[in-house]
Amino acid sequence: MEEKNNALKELSEKLLLDRAKPARAAALGCAAKAMDFAEGYKDFIDASKTEREAVDWSVQAAKAAGFVEFDPNTKYNAGDKVYYNNRGKAMCLAVIGKQGAAQGVRIAAAHIDSPRVDLKPIPLYESSELCLLKTHYYGGIKKYQWAAIPLSLHGKIVRKDGSELTVNIGESAGDPQFCITDILPHLGKDQSVKKLGEAFTGEDLNVLVGSLPLDVEGEQLYKLNIMKLLNEQYGIVESDLISAELELVPAFKAADIGFDRSMVGAYGHDDRVCAYPALQALFDCEAPEKTSLVVLADKEEIGSVGNTGLCSEYMNYFVSDLARAEGLEPQHVWSKSSCLSADVTAALDPTYISAFEPGNSTYLNRGVGIAKYTGSRGKGGSNDASAEFLGWVRRILDEAGVLWQIGELGKVDQGGGGTVAYDVARLNADVIDIGVPVLSMHSPFEVISKVDLFSAYQAFKAYFEAK
Ligand code: MN
Ligand code: MN
Repeated sequence: MEEKNNALKELSEKLLLDRAKPARAAALGCAAKAMDFAEGYKDFIDASKTEREAVDWSVQAAKAAGFVEFDPNTKYNAGDKVYYNNRGKAMCLAVIGKQGAAQGVRIAAAHIDSPRVDLKPIPLYESSELCLLKTHYYGGIKKYQWAAIPLSLHGKIVRKDGSELTVNIGESAGDPQFCITDILPHLGKDQSVKKLGEAFTGEDLNVLVGSLPLDVEGEQLYKLNIMKLLNEQYGIVESDLISAELELVPAFKAADIGFDRSMVGAYGHDDRVCAYPALQALFDCEAPEKTSLVVLADKEEIGSVGNTGLCSEYMNYFVSDLARAEGLEPQHVWSKSSCLSADVTAALDPTYISAFEPGNSTYLNRGVGIAKYTGSRGKGGSNDASAEFLGWVRRILDEAGVLWQIGELGKVDQGGGGTVAYDVARLNADVIDIGVPVLSMHSPFEVISKVDLFSAYQAFKAYFEAK
């Protein structure tokens, strides 16, 4: 009997895929290193709440790691480290490989914009003796989640004379913060019978910024008081807010989550939780065989549009410059290249389990999550990686001992989402989605596991270093 059981066990181990048990052992094996790695990540994410701040941080970190600004007229050698800063909102970084770009380049592409609440061009108004800002939300948010939480204001204002002002209010100790108000439950009768998606509209996302009038007789004294303060402090007038990009984001800092401190809660994990390990992996990559890149993209949350989004040719131009410097045709380089589209995926949430198909979901602590395809309504808008490329990726991850898992975003026909994968695949490169599973994705306070974050770092490193 025992012999028979042993034979069955052996057969199961040989033939069946056990997703949970080996992952558990591997996660516990790297938990201590993962805890250390997450400390640097928390500093990064607190300092990088907008795409501009993420680029500023990355430029500093890249310089410290020996990267210099890319010059298309320079001939680079193996091990040289260069970066291109696209308008302070997107970036390409590269470590030149021993084979250069001749056999293609390796790219990890992550986006550094996150859902948030932007100001309208003429935002400031007063109503019922309060001063507020009108907003236009950015990306896919559940609007009710943004009320009654502390917000900080980030971005840039270009004054009439062309001078620029960088804005960051609400992050430093002692700074004022802002908020969107909600109706009290005692008076919430009308709101409470509405559908969740309709209870809070875009025009309800008004930000409270003042409540004292200017101490004179006259009109618009609440608004005037705030403009007077802004003028004294920042030298701006109301019309300067027209040429501005001002973004409201949650004012709270990243925090360990759980008694075991195994997770990190923060705003904007999507997708800086992939950008950070990709950068660290590139920084730790000495002279790879193939030229290796990290691409940081803006505007993914609104469709990768604009000249800093991956619909723009900036990544193509950068790789084309690298190719031409070696006397290569860019299209020949692209056709041999590959890309890890480094973006987050949804972790299975036991509270909302009906939205997931447990057998094909990603789980916290089972490592970096691969998604062969994304999209919605029958893989619409997805890249759908080839079996060959996925086969190669899983081989190099296994050989490097990286903890990884595969999954879909959720149940078929439950919804869906896209990434930058198809923007890169358009250039005839092999592309696959890979990233950190997230709980409460697109909320003001998303949660990830430290083990998964560390696994992402190991995965990007293995990819850059693979032969
Ligand atoms: Mn994303
Ligand atoms: Mn997103």
